[in-house]
Amino acid sequence: MAKSPETEHPIKSFGWAAYDTSGVLSPFNFSRRATGENDVQFKVLYCGICHSDLHMLKNEWGNSKYPIVPGHEIVGVVTEVGSNVEKVKIGDKVGVGVLVGSCQKCENCTNDLEQYCPSHIATYSTTYYDGTTTYGGYSNLMVTDQHFVVRWPENLPAEAAPLLCAGITTYSPLKYFGLDKPGLNIGVVGLGGLGHMAVKFAKAFGCKVTVISTSVNKKDEAIERLGADSFLLSRDPEQLQAAASTLDGIIDTVSADHPILPLLNILKPHGKLVVVGAPPKPLELPVFPIIMGRKIVGGSIIGGMKETQEMLDFAAKHNIIPDVEIVAMDYVNTALERLLKSDVKYRFALDVGETLKAD
Ligand code: NAP
Ligand code: ZN
Repeated sequence: MAKSPETEHPIKSFGWAAYDTSGVLSPFNFSRRATGENDVQFKVLYCGICHSDLHMLKNEWGNSKYPIVPGHEIVGVVTEVGSNVEKVKIGDKVGVGVLVGSCQKCENCTNDLEQYCPSHIATYSTTYYDGTTTYGGYSNLMVTDQHFVVRWPENLPAEAAPLLCAGITTYSPLKYFGLDKPGLNIGVVGLGGLGHMAVKFAKAFGCKVTVISTSVNKKDEAIERLGADSFLLSRDPEQLQAAASTLDGIIDTVSADHPILPLLNILKPHGKLVVVGAPPKPLELPVFPIIMGRKIVGGSIIGGMKETQEMLDFAAKHNIIPDVEIVAMDYVNTALERLLKSDVKYRFALDVGETLKAD
């Protein structure tokens, strides 16, 4: 008989889990593997709430495995290391993002692109090498292979945990698609967790940033607080028309169905629309605007481990810190409801370390 989540491993652990597509979380007891020779065990301090957690909790992508302990923007403090671990020591702060495994042999892995490894393993709701399901950071502790652990820079606060998904997911495509050059005009669609980090990184690269949003109430803050140069209301055709052919690149972070024709129209010829948002339904791709302007539509997922460390060091150096609303563990269901309504500026971070209690 298969062992239960509570007994399959030796280390008792607890967190919050959802059991079905209602996505409602409640306290959950489970277990973690003993710290292996390449593993880092750490106590979770903060965990960001990503919109991907919402998609997964409700099985919107069709690959969820219940019960789900979500959370892939995790910062903690090391409590134990395996005998082969040299990267970090007990007491260090560390981070874990979306990945906890990959083959480390394929063309992608050997080029520091573990996120494109066909057999990469996600931090939660995925089958690990030992046949058990991975559980994420809405939990008291993690045991993770050191390759997928990043060193947390000293001058970054632990609640900046959303850098580990929202940060790297926007940093990586800005770099890869050459949208990181001073003076370029960059659009950011959707001013949520990912979007506000895209604004911060693009500004740090010296770009001019236009936020394209459905929420008129985000305009003043986008400009005054986040440093965007302009703001377009995506549901106002006149504003979009006035901005036609002005942008070199766009990072689209929208989590739901939305038209991309207006976005293609505000790109200059040869401009690039990079989709990082992951709406469950296909987007409609009109071909005339791309063939007439030799425009590119691309996609990107998080970043590799080397690039994630580079991004953190860049963020630490340039003081790029997510705007977080810190909430207690037992607020998580309310936070998820508010996230669905885009009612957060701009990312929730669960104070797991101080507020997660054993059941
Ligand atoms: P989020 O904080 O909820 O932000 C999404 C933003 O999209 C909202 O704040 C809202 O911005 C806009 N939006 C929402 N519904 C919309 C609609 N119906 N039409 C137009 N705009 C809408 O979510 P997030 O955590 O940033 O994640 C965004 C998406 O990226 C999710 O689908 C997530 O799964 C995906 N994701 C992908 C990766 C990757 O590696 N590619 C990594 C992480 C997350 P405004 O209020 O400004 O309109
Ligand atoms: Zn995420």
